[in-house]
Formats: sequence, C-alpha cells, structure tokens
Amino acid sequence: MEVPPPATLRKPLMVPSKTLMGPGPSNCSQRVLDALSNPLLGHMHPECLEIMDEIKEGIKYMFQTKNPATFCISASGQGGMEAALCNLLEDGDVAAFGVTGLWGYRAAEMAKRYGADVRITEARFGKTLTLDDIKESFEVHRPKVFFLVQGDSSTGLLQGNIREVGELCRKYNCIFVVDTVASLGGVEFLMDEWKVDVAFTGSQKVLGAPPGITPISFSPRAMHVINNRNSRVKVYYWDAILLADLWKCFGRPQVYHHTVSATLLYGLREALASACEQGLKSLIRRHTECAFRLQKGIIDMGLELFVDNPRDRLPTVTTIKIPKGVDWQQVSRYAMKKYFFEISGGLGPSVDLVFRIGLMGENATIEKVDLALKILREAILNTSNIKL
Ligand code: PMP
Repeated sequence: MEVPPPATLRKPLMVPSKTLMGPGPSNCSQRVLDALSNPLLGHMHPECLEIMDEIKEGIKYMFQTKNPATFCISASGQGGMEAALCNLLEDGDVAAFGVTGLWGYRAAEMAKRYGADVRITEARFGKTLTLDDIKESFEVHRPKVFFLVQGDSSTGLLQGNIREVGELCRKYNCIFVVDTVASLGGVEFLMDEWKVDVAFTGSQKVLGAPPGITPISFSPRAMHVINNRNSRVKVYYWDAILLADLWKCFGRPQVYHHTVSATLLYGLREALASACEQGLKSLIRRHTECAFRLQKGIIDMGLELFVDNPRDRLPTVTTIKIPKGVDWQQVSRYAMKKYFFEISGGLGPSVDLVFRIGLMGENATIEKVDLALKILREAILNTSNIKL
C-alpha cells in the first residue's frame, strides 16, 4: 500500500475544555455530555422513535406551536434554512428577504440556487427593519415567501416586530419564514400566535446540544404550499414530506429516509428536557438579565455597544465596537491562550468592526458575564495602549 496509516492518528485524542462564549456553539451541560455517551441505537428502533417523539414535543414547546410537521433536519442550522427555502420555492417564485446582517444574505443566496426570484430589503447598518420597510417590500415585490432573521448573530440585532410581520404576511398571502437559530430560548418567540409559517433554530446555541441536528417546524399553511407544488422539491435530503414521515409526524408508518444520528438525538433530547424543566419564561428572563449586566459592564468599561437602540439588542449575542488602537485578533488570542475563553470578532458585514460575546444556555449566568468582562478588559489592556 502506498499510503501508510497516518502517524498523527496514533496519538491519543486530546480535547481542551474551553469556555465557548462566542456566537455559538455554547458549552454543553454535563447532563447533555453524559447523554451523548449512551450506546448507539438504530434510527428505526422503537426506543429511538420514542426519543424522536419526545424531541418533537420539546421543540413544539420551544417554538410554542402545535404544528404536526415539527421535526429535525440532520445538519447544522443552515440545514434548516436550506430545507425551509428548498421546500417552499419553485423556479421563478418571488422570495423577499429582510436583511439585518449576514444571515439574511446567506438565505437569499440559497434561494437563488433553488431558482427563486430574490428581492432584498436591507436595514440601515446597525438597525433593524421597520414595519414600513417591510410593508414596502410586500407592496413592491408581492413575494410568495418572506424571510426574516429574529436574531442576527453577525450584528447582534434583534428584529422585534415578528408578530406584526406575521399579520402582514397573512394580509399579502405570503408564507413567513423566521430564522431563530441564535435567538430561540433567549427571547420570546410565539410561532402560532405570531403566525409564523416556518421556523428553525440551532441545537448548539441556547439549547446547548451539539451542532448537527436542527429543529424545524412547518405550519399547515406551509405544508399546503409544499403539498401543492408543481415541481418536485429539488433536494431529496431536504424534502419535508419525506422527513415528516421519517419522524412520524402524521401518524403514518415510519419510512426510512436517512440515518438520523441517535447520538445527536440523545443530546438534543436532554437539552430540550432541561429547557422544559427551566421553563421558557425563566430561561428568557435569565438571558435578558445576563445581557443587561453584560451591556452595562461594557458601557461602564468605557466601550461602546454596536447596537444603539437598547430594544434592538439581541440578548444572546452582544456586539461591541472595537476601539481605535485595539487589534481584535490579539485580544481574542490572549483570551484563548491564557483562559481558554472564546471572544469572537465580527462576521460578514461586522468583520473587523466588533467583538461578539455570546450568552447562551449554560453560559448565560452572572458568573460567566463577570468573567467575560474581566477577561475582555484584561485582554484589551495587555494587547494595546488604550486606557480603560
Ligand atoms: N442563522 C443564524 C442567525 C446564526 O446565528 C447561525 C449560526 N451562527 C446560522 C443561521 C447558521 O447556523 P449553522 O452554523 O449551525 O449552520
């Protein structure tokens, strides 16, 4: 054999323990980590199906929905985005995207690849979209699908008018898709009451499960559109009707579609169980209180928050302007080297402009907020000449 076994794989696996306080993933609790080490099950075994049923109920609680078509995509958060758009859109369909940061653009790019006629409504930099901006988008474009990000982790913006946009979508006969990857569990989200048709979230953010399995829910209205398509869903792997049968959403016999990772199911099941035990109200309150404390600490330190309007600040990801004379990469490296502590830079439109500190799940505690403030301050003082 010309290719020998690699020497590097003879070394034992070594994984450091880090505090993950960037925009995600967040740290898993010991309960979730323990769950991940359970023996593997076949994805069609009855025990696995029972876990899938429990997960569906947990997701319905988190989204506040009664949609039967509630299940998981076997992929990271963007798999939810792909699945939502791929199922709803056919060639030439008009799809409008509200953009408050990187993620709206990413979704628009995906929709183009599925053949949609894409229209973009951008918020002013560092601001959210007003209802008037969105109304104009409906008037001008008359979209079949309207897409919004509730919490854009690239800018730290919280789009707060989802309920009102839900009303507008009904008025303009439009399917409403909301990305809650970075926000669910950290801020209020009432899928049914707000008339959201498709929502997806990240397992690795507030929920604190590993990435790779993405909760998603389709309203009966969205399923009606999917059931009445003229063409087949372009990607077999994202096909919501097949996935709903794999997840036994409609009471029909379970049908194999792909091998769901039982391991990821265990982790998500325990993460959901823990969120349900805490209760949405107290989960959201904890994230809000921690975010206020972090924001106040940042301001008291003499730094500036990227999002001016306090109401538009996403509690789960705080963006902080990088002061002149500070190199964010050096700050980030300092924090990681000395403390194994993750502080991120920006992403997409915010790159080189902001630090991002995530407060999600296990990391949304007063102690972690104070630790983040201490490390950020020390890292800035030790890597620049500025005074704080
Ligand atoms: N949408 C938002 C708002 C996000 O914050 C992220 C991840 N940072 C994604 C989508 C994509 O998620 P993933 O990296 O899990 O694919």
